[in-house]
Amino acid sequence: LVRADGTIGETIFGQMTQLALQHGAVNLGQGAPGTPAPDFLLEAADAAMRAGFNQYAPGQGFPELIAAVAEQREREHGHQVEPENVLITVGATEALTAAIMALVPAGSEVIVLEPFYDSYAAAIAAAGARMVTVPLLPNDAGSFAPDWQAFEAAVSPSTTAILVNTPHNPTGAVLPLEHLQRIFTAAQRADAWLITDEVYEYLVYGASHESIAAHVDEPERVVTISSAGKTFNVTGWKIGWAVAAPAVREAIQSVKQFLTFTAGSPFQPAVAQALRSRLDFPVANRDSLADRRDTLLAALRQVPGLTVREPAAGYFALVDFASITSEDALTLNERITRDFGFTGIPVASLCRAGSVTAEYYRSTIRYSFCKAPAEIEAAAERIASLG
Ligand code: PMP
Ligand code: GLN
Repeated sequence: LVRADGTIGETIFGQMTQLALQHGAVNLGQGAPGTPAPDFLLEAADAAMRAGFNQYAPGQGFPELIAAVAEQREREHGHQVEPENVLITVGATEALTAAIMALVPAGSEVIVLEPFYDSYAAAIAAAGARMVTVPLLPNDAGSFAPDWQAFEAAVSPSTTAILVNTPHNPTGAVLPLEHLQRIFTAAQRADAWLITDEVYEYLVYGASHESIAAHVDEPERVVTISSAGKTFNVTGWKIGWAVAAPAVREAIQSVKQFLTFTAGSPFQPAVAQALRSRLDFPVANRDSLADRRDTLLAALRQVPGLTVREPAAGYFALVDFASITSEDALTLNERITRDFGFTGIPVASLCRAGSVTAEYYRSTIRYSFCKAPAEIEAAAERIASLG
């Protein structure tokens, strides 16, 4: 991400989108939904614009969205929070960056499960801290767990935060409560923050997503982050939130004010309405995603030699090509894009260069199934030509 000469490269998502465009390939790379935002949200945002929600929002966010997030936390997760616990941000991305910059001192260490969403590394670097990664790998039964030995070794007096993404991008893992409790206990022992990224909280196929802040005796140690993008198919609206103890929320807000000041005014009342009364949408959207996931998995499973993992959550399926090629996934992905017309994301690009995890996922490509049904069908046909 940050090159040896100190300049910053383009994200792997931008690079792979360019690659797909260049070859007219079906883009199963970036996790950007190919299905529309629901009408009720478009109408609510339109009404908000016409009602004058067009200037800066309050720094903490509009009270109606703050209240709606607090209600959602309690209703969905049994996590009791007050308005002073909630900060509205420009997507989960800003909540993550502002939380890390507010809470992580320069020179300290942040533990991250690997592979990881690419903005984590950038935010930790911006805070002047060091990222320590712990592999998240499948066990024999096919479900993913942190490498506990590596995790215990990673926790040290320098640890100031542990950042956990569940449901997880890109593996689709949903960490069970006992794993989250174990991570929380380690955070307590190290006197570190636990930051959770739960943007896929509704997109879980069968497994149960647990929000750790609702299950611990010291919730003030936890910063819970989520966003409306995945839940309501509005990734471009960039409305997210952080939920934290009031003083922590204030600290995150004081960083946020100099990053973006406030988040998109007309989208806030619209998302508030949706969180309050349209949680049927993410459930229906999850079911539709499950169908598209099944179509993609069925096509991939027809190709001899591929190891295809069924994700328990999220937007992505991982496919390992190791038994049919010795190419690394970046090279292979380029060749498949050029010769077969569909593109994914090499999973090693979501790992630290040269890490054990990057090596493990060397020939694994992530394919996104949040695309339009027609795109998934088109990809399925092209996948069939691989075999
Ligand atoms: N965290 C994870 C794990 C993600 O996959 C994404 C990407 N979509 C984000 C955070 C960013 O969320 P937002 O678009 O709300 O900033
Ligand atoms: N979260 C999306 C993904 O993992 C992409 C977001 C982005 O392009 N920055 O594909």
